[in-house]
Amino acid sequence: MSLNTAEIAQASKLDGARRDALHFIDGAFTTGSTGRSWQNRSPIDNSVIGLVHEAGEAEVDAAVTAARRALTGEWGRMSVEARCTLLGAVADEINRRFDEFLAAECLDTGKPVSLASHIDIPRGAANFKMFTDVIKTVSTEFFPTPTPDGTGAINYALRKPKGVIGVISPWNLPLLLMTWKVGPALACGNTVVVKPSEETPLTTTLLGEVMNAVGMPKGVFNVVHGFGPNSAGEFLTRHKGVDAITFTGETRTGEAIMKAAADGVRPVSFELGGKNAAIVFADADLDKAIEGTMRSAFANCGQVCLGTERVYVQRPVFEDFVARLKAGAEGLKLGHPEDKGVTLGPLVSQEHRDKVLSYYRKAVEEGAIVVTGGGIPEMPAHLAEGAWVQPTIWTGLPETAAVVREEIFGPCCHIQPFDTEEEAIHLANDTPYGLACAVWTENLSRAHRVAARMEVGLCWVNSWFLRDLRTPFGGSKASGIGREGGLHSLEFYTELSNVCIKL
Ligand code: NAD
Repeated sequence: MSLNTAEIAQASKLDGARRDALHFIDGAFTTGSTGRSWQNRSPIDNSVIGLVHEAGEAEVDAAVTAARRALTGEWGRMSVEARCTLLGAVADEINRRFDEFLAAECLDTGKPVSLASHIDIPRGAANFKMFTDVIKTVSTEFFPTPTPDGTGAINYALRKPKGVIGVISPWNLPLLLMTWKVGPALACGNTVVVKPSEETPLTTTLLGEVMNAVGMPKGVFNVVHGFGPNSAGEFLTRHKGVDAITFTGETRTGEAIMKAAADGVRPVSFELGGKNAAIVFADADLDKAIEGTMRSAFANCGQVCLGTERVYVQRPVFEDFVARLKAGAEGLKLGHPEDKGVTLGPLVSQEHRDKVLSYYRKAVEEGAIVVTGGGIPEMPAHLAEGAWVQPTIWTGLPETAAVVREEIFGPCCHIQPFDTEEEAIHLANDTPYGLACAVWTENLSRAHRVAARMEVGLCWVNSWFLRDLRTPFGGSKASGIGREGGLHSLEFYTELSNVCIKL
């Protein structure tokens, strides 16, 4: 597929440069041999950013083979110290090329520069340093064991890399969520083959340049582009040379990947979907609760797995809360990522907008009161083709309504009143998902009591998205398998091997 001159000229309103995404295999960029590619379009204005080349089985096999080879080469022999120094250099090089990563991420996702420069890029870089601190300081077990003959034995554990890790990542925080896996995987001495989301291929591709610039041995970090079923995603997860699979994305996709991983009994680490609740008690500091819920419902245009789509507010403050959240939502400024004061970008794609708008329609059909939003905003002519939607708030729906049950992944929430603590806990937990929740209360005992009963992997009290990267991150129920972060990442990215020596 080729682009005409006009399309290339209008590509990337950020700097006018066309950006193609090539595979990065064994230290070299390649278009591969399938001859298939697709146009990567910006959600800001639907302009063409460049072409993305689709990998076939041959490219995936070449990437996995390179990754296997690297395990026994220079990388496999490298000391932990040297490995960590190299990963530190990766972080430094991302920061040195900060503006390029920022432009690429904003083009792919449409998110405001203010957000991506604060979260996506710096945290993406930090993921390469954070896990080197962990791996350098972690110890393993040692047990002296008595034996019947009286001489005894000693047992100690060795922590080894698992091998080749298949990394499948989503589009909502492309660099950050991908490096959240690649950082610890490499710190532990594994090699990786990454399949980024088809919607957001650019920053993962740029990372290939960074790896070469810092002298990362060939084959340690590989990238293949493509889609899920019958494309690079499925080829990678089915590949017998992949020792473990780490995936972030939808629960349904997780089910498909788990089936693929069953062949060869390969371990999986899954960070999946959510339908997260916030509970606002009447004793909450409402200023804090509004500020936090504004972020949890609307940040990144609602495309955050930890985001709040169900808000339960105790009846005495219900009207006030709804009015204030409405005012907040109506005060958000939609616009081009680079425009000053912009707080809300578009959704990631036209396809995702169709999905979100279908829920906006469903809410009305099911009898919702539309407090604000519910449709497509009027945008200036140069942005009119982008994937924009209005931030939306509903009330009045039963708990059985689709928009209350299903993950929408848009800038929207339903607000429901409740009376008792017991009722709020029941409502919040009544979902197949179990990723995150936010509890807003100034009553310390209640905070502990409620947090302990939330069926989630992450419970915030009087905050949202406050992260200490050493803590366990992940979902319960249908929201995931396993935990990542700090020492918990090592549980997945290393294999403990016990050595028993008879004395
Ligand atoms: P998705 O599941 O559609 O796609 C994620 C990745 O999986 C993409 O790279 C895609 O190409 C690939 N894929 C799709 N089908 C596949 C298959 N059969 N085999 C192998 N790979 C396949 O998810 P998305 O739309 O990119 O991301 C949004 C979803 O991710 C939401 O559900 C969100 O809640 C979830 N998410 C969860 C977390 C978390 O930490 N729990 C974080 C971010 C996003």
